[in-house]
Amino acid sequence: MSEKKWVYLFHEIDKAKEAVGGDWEFVRGLLGGKGANLADMTSIGVPVPPGFSVTTEACNAYQIKEEFPDGMWDQVLSSMADVEKATGKVFGGKENPLLVSCRSGAKFSMPGMMDTVLNIGLNDETAVAMVNLTKNERFVFDSYRRLVQMFGSVVLGITDEAFEEVFDGYKAKKGIVADTDLTTDDLKLLTEKFKMVVLEEKGFEFPQDPYEQLKLANEAVFKSWMGKRAVDYRRATDIPDDLGTAVNIQTMVFGNMGWDSGTGVAFTRNPANGEKKLYGDYLLNAQGEDVVAGIRNTEPIQHMSETLPEAYKQFVEIVTNLEKHYRDMQDVEFTIERGKLWMLQTRNGKRTPGSAVKIAVDMVAEGLIDKRTAIMRVTPEQVDTLLHPQFSAESKRAAKAEGRFFSSGVNASPGAAVGQVYFDADKTEQMAKEENQKTIMVRPFTKPDDVHGMLVAQGILTSEGGATSHAAVVARQFGVPCVVGASAVKIDLDHRVMYVGDQVVKEGEWISVDGTTGEVYLGQLERFAPSLEEQKELLNLLGWADEICATPGVRSDHGKGFPTVGLKVWANADYPQDAKRAREYGATGIGLCRTEHMFFEPERLPSVQKMILAKSSEERTEALNELLPHQRKDFEGLFTAMDGLPVIIRLIDPPLHEFLPSAEDLQDQIITKRIENMADYILGKSETKSIQELENMLREVGSLHESNPMMGLRGVRLSIMMPEIVEMQVRAIMEAAANVALKGVDPHPEVMIPLTGHVNELKLIQPRLEAIAVEVMEAKKVKFNYKFGSMIEIPRACVTADELAGIAEFFSFGTNDLTQMTFGYSRDDAERSFLLKYIEEGILSKNPFQTIDRAGVGELMRIAVNKGREVRPELEVGICGEAGGDPNSIEFCHLIGQNYVSCSPFRVPVARLAAAHAAIKHQN
Ligand code: ADP
Ligand code: MG
Ligand code: MG
Repeated sequence: MSEKKWVYLFHEIDKAKEAVGGDWEFVRGLLGGKGANLADMTSIGVPVPPGFSVTTEACNAYQIKEEFPDGMWDQVLSSMADVEKATGKVFGGKENPLLVSCRSGAKFSMPGMMDTVLNIGLNDETAVAMVNLTKNERFVFDSYRRLVQMFGSVVLGITDEAFEEVFDGYKAKKGIVADTDLTTDDLKLLTEKFKMVVLEEKGFEFPQDPYEQLKLANEAVFKSWMGKRAVDYRRATDIPDDLGTAVNIQTMVFGNMGWDSGTGVAFTRNPANGEKKLYGDYLLNAQGEDVVAGIRNTEPIQHMSETLPEAYKQFVEIVTNLEKHYRDMQDVEFTIERGKLWMLQTRNGKRTPGSAVKIAVDMVAEGLIDKRTAIMRVTPEQVDTLLHPQFSAESKRAAKAEGRFFSSGVNASPGAAVGQVYFDADKTEQMAKEENQKTIMVRPFTKPDDVHGMLVAQGILTSEGGATSHAAVVARQFGVPCVVGASAVKIDLDHRVMYVGDQVVKEGEWISVDGTTGEVYLGQLERFAPSLEEQKELLNLLGWADEICATPGVRSDHGKGFPTVGLKVWANADYPQDAKRAREYGATGIGLCRTEHMFFEPERLPSVQKMILAKSSEERTEALNELLPHQRKDFEGLFTAMDGLPVIIRLIDPPLHEFLPSAEDLQDQIITKRIENMADYILGKSETKSIQELENMLREVGSLHESNPMMGLRGVRLSIMMPEIVEMQVRAIMEAAANVALKGVDPHPEVMIPLTGHVNELKLIQPRLEAIAVEVMEAKKVKFNYKFGSMIEIPRACVTADELAGIAEFFSFGTNDLTQMTFGYSRDDAERSFLLKYIEEGILSKNPFQTIDRAGVGELMRIAVNKGREVRPELEVGICGEAGGDPNSIEFCHLIGQNYVSCSPFRVPVARLAAAHAAIKHQN
């Protein structure tokens, strides 16, 4: 039996594949992302400094007993021997010493892992050897003092300050400003001083034995896997602990060996805009982190064609091949040692949403990836960002140039917010509500009693907390742009100011918060709402998403009417204008038109009130006849905008009292009028007509009062009590359809009855309404297709869906009410008081009003779909609640066999992509 393999040399990728069964994802799991790619590059002939990876399995084994597993260290030693052979150098050798770096690398790059330690293997003796070899004493002692410092802080856990104090003190004493002014002797002395820091802080000497250095560094990487920052991050992002991190030990190459050496980082395409052009920086005569640290000004990568032409040519060739090899934009690190190019890392590059779309679409055109891959490369959230208002690049640049950049923190919730600063929730709410101001709430951190302020604010800024802090969670839940943990910002709540250095913001002053990037600016930055039409690549991508969804067989055939194409995306639109926008955004139907909005228009409300206050059916019909032409006109507009596509119109849903003023308002008005008419009153004249009318209305409001209107007289119940209203509505719908049909438009009205809980409700009302449709078609001598269906938003409707489907020709889930009734929560009350606590405590993992609760509400939906289709296989099923625009919920709708999702017009593009993701993810 061969012993367990804990270590893989970079050229042993085949063995690693074999060990995990060939799957590349598993190789990445075993060797970490960095290690797997180093090995992979080695295997395709890219120059990579020799080295090896200690596996994530070794890391996991280490966690159990806090010691290296049996055989691991021996394998490290023999791998070092291989590396020595490959390089012709000797670790700890006195002639040609081998130096190595120790680099952590989990499957996914994540914060909290140990920082890379360079130059391992340097000690008092090898330093001398390196001087002989390089004839560059300054370089050697600069490297040595860096090693002692890095090793001391990263591996031995000594604070940075302990070293910095010594370093700064030394420079001050000698009057040295820039590090580059340190002489060789200075650096030698500092190395000794740093060794003293180690001795003082740890009680032992900086290890001179190279293997001791290697061992401690290796162990420190394993320990960092269970460090607090790493663990916190994994908890927040659901990364399991048993993923482990690998350790990569790699021969050092030196970019700081003179002016024929250098180091740099580059992306194969522009990560900001996706342009297909090498994008990066390099520095001559510099080592690794110098490029990123910003100590010296870097040069654009293209300039390397002049300074190091041979290496540049080879570099371009290599990265071009790497991109083809990985079929994705690469982010690479490289070093040139005395003219020779070495690649130190490659990975798929992070990118902005805009470049994600462009790169994906371009790569399809280049034949690198197929359309499905392109679709999966872009997330629905990225599409969302591309359609949200953003700060213009020019206004940001200008603000920076004018010194109005204030600070930055964690980009907790995307979007661009401009507003006046207030330092507590009450003031934020007051200024927003009473003064109609645009406000930004600023706090050190937030608590549940701050939510009322956060909800009215345009944006939120905190100086403490991370991506999962209360502020961040709430902001994301409610879609408020938010930056948290801007730790440079000092907030002085007593004096109502915040400041960074000498930039001071007083309460009431304007700031701009970019939740997408985490930046905060002083003053008001310009925003723009990006248009979809101008984003050609995005249009392309969404077109492909629609193609995927429209492909028969993309969902396997479950029989009983289960659709074999993917989800269609419809929109919720109350006005022709919204319908037009929805169609432009790619909606192929209207899933919800709420008619009551039409009742609230100022010139219609009096007729609506007259209808409500009517004492007889005739009086009511008279008032309704005033409304009919208005409604008919609205519907004509909708049908015309949606020519050829289905339009679902929901009959009146809310309780009637919503159309009347509140009792308090009426009382106020009556009192005001009485005071105005005091003189008449004293003279004993009777009350004026207007006061009588107000009193009538007040009585009516009193009689309509319900203790729980959400469960009271509304929806289909209202139609049964006052059928005249819905009869008028259906007449308006059908007459509108007839009128536009006569003009050559192809209307598809679908009339939706809300809040059905019992089939007998439908049995009573639906035939009366269908009769109107028939009557209108006969009268107008025109034919068109129409449907009558039911909204499904009561649990009883779900479990008796087979009965309902005997009458209803379509179902549409109203997930807001369905969630309220299934959980027994009133949404407003829940979100205002306990829901966040529930999420924080993990009682609920998500807000069920935003993402369908699959186990509860979702199960009821599944039952409804199945039972409904048993009776009526051609039953059309969709969703029109807010969850219809939520990617996770869309996936669920796909899985239970719905025909479409309907969401707000602005979310249609997001939903189109999410629908395609669901289809691709679950095909087969
Ligand atoms: P990170 O994951 O933080 O990027 P890396 O392990 O990539 O950390 O290393 C940090 C820096 O050190 C990078 O610039 C990298 O190129 C450089 N580096 C790492 N190993 C070596 C090596 N063997 N020779 C030269 N430079 C190295
Ligand atoms: Mg790196
Ligand atoms: Mg409802």
